[in-house]
Amino acid sequence: MSGKVYLVGAGPGDPDLLTVKALRVIERASLILYDDLVSDSIRALFPPGASTVNVGKRAGRPVTTQEEIHRRMTRAARAGREVVRLKAGDPLVFSRAGQEIEALRQAGIDFEVVPGVTAAFAAAAAVRIPLTDRRSASQLVFLTAHRAADRSPEQWRAAASGENTIVVYMPGGHYAEELGAELLAGGLPADTPVAAVSNASRPNQSLHSTTLGDLSGLGEVESPAVLIIGAVAAGASQDGEKEALETAIASAR
Ligand code: SAH
Repeated sequence: MSGKVYLVGAGPGDPDLLTVKALRVIERASLILYDDLVSDSIRALFPPGASTVNVGKRAGRPVTTQEEIHRRMTRAARAGREVVRLKAGDPLVFSRAGQEIEALRQAGIDFEVVPGVTAAFAAAAAVRIPLTDRRSASQLVFLTAHRAADRSPEQWRAAASGENTIVVYMPGGHYAEELGAELLAGGLPADTPVAAVSNASRPNQSLHSTTLGDLSGLGEVESPAVLIIGAVAAGASQDGEKEALETAIASAR
């Protein structure tokens, strides 16, 4: 009997944001290949009997090559094992899922994709802003800051429409500034609100609010982070629920 590979989204970090299906396939897996960004509290849910391998990146360099990941998944599935390829957020957003799906198809391996809560949705929830709003934001654009140089001025102008909410993944280092400059050149005003959300859904979650013209003042936001750019970002705030809960717990003591 041949096994199966599940490409699974682990969500942004909080294990409560795993889907029920993700948890079920994790609990049944005999091999789990997971990325660096998969949080410790989700790793704690791995079944003791499963072999688990971190195939993520260290300092930008892959610990395991993409080919090696393909080989491991294929070999284990052919041996009849259930394999979970666990990725942060949603498995189909800014991951190597395209290559992995191609490899599995070529090898004739049965596979299934289990979606997860992507960072954009987790961050918007964390700072309690809508990503679309009928008054100000009618389109969503997800970008990576890394590929900023590859886009044409026309693409930047299209992205910089005032009707867009733009969510920037992997904004680390100088990338955010380059991207900010391109969006300004594309026509977005310098006072466009920006919410930088780090560690969405995790205990060390943080929010820095700024504007597009002042992205350089953001400093080094802690990784992993996304930037939410657009009119809706003006309303970002993360106090409230957690504080209210702490007060309630304190007063109950
Ligand atoms: N597949 C993932 C994205 C992988 S790219 C998803 O759907 O979310 C990795 C980037 O995701 C990070 O650089 C960061 O921009 C973002 N990210 C992942 N987890 C995050 C979190 N908990 N808070 C903020 N950003 C996060």
